[in-house]
Amino acid sequence: MTQQLTVDKNLTIKQWCEVCHSVAKEKGFWEKERNIGEALMLIVTEIGEAMEGYRHQDQDNFREELADTFIRLFDLCGGLDIDIEAEIIKKAEKNKSRPYKHGKIC
Ligand SMILES: [Mg+2]
Repeated sequence: MTQQLTVDKNLTIKQWCEVCHSVAKEKGFWEKERNIGEALMLIVTEIGEAMEGYRHQDQDNFREELADTFIRLFDLCGGLDIDIEAEIIKKAEKNKSRPYKHGKIC
């Protein structure tokens, strides 16, 4: 029987990482040392699935695969204890200071 996941809709990104990682652990995906390269490529596959949804003009599937992408990414960040919220803030500030089109001509 599938249990309903009840989450607060106002979670921080850090809390989403905790939730996604906790569910992934519960489902057995962290029983042995995680292959990080494989985990990264699985995130890429979700992007590929989103592309397929987009190509087929299946908005529900497109949105679901984007959600899968975040879920896998949040799980990975949770598993590696990365404060991705802090990293996003740092990088967004860095990007803000970069030149127009980040200095690229094309
Ligand atoms: Mg998927």
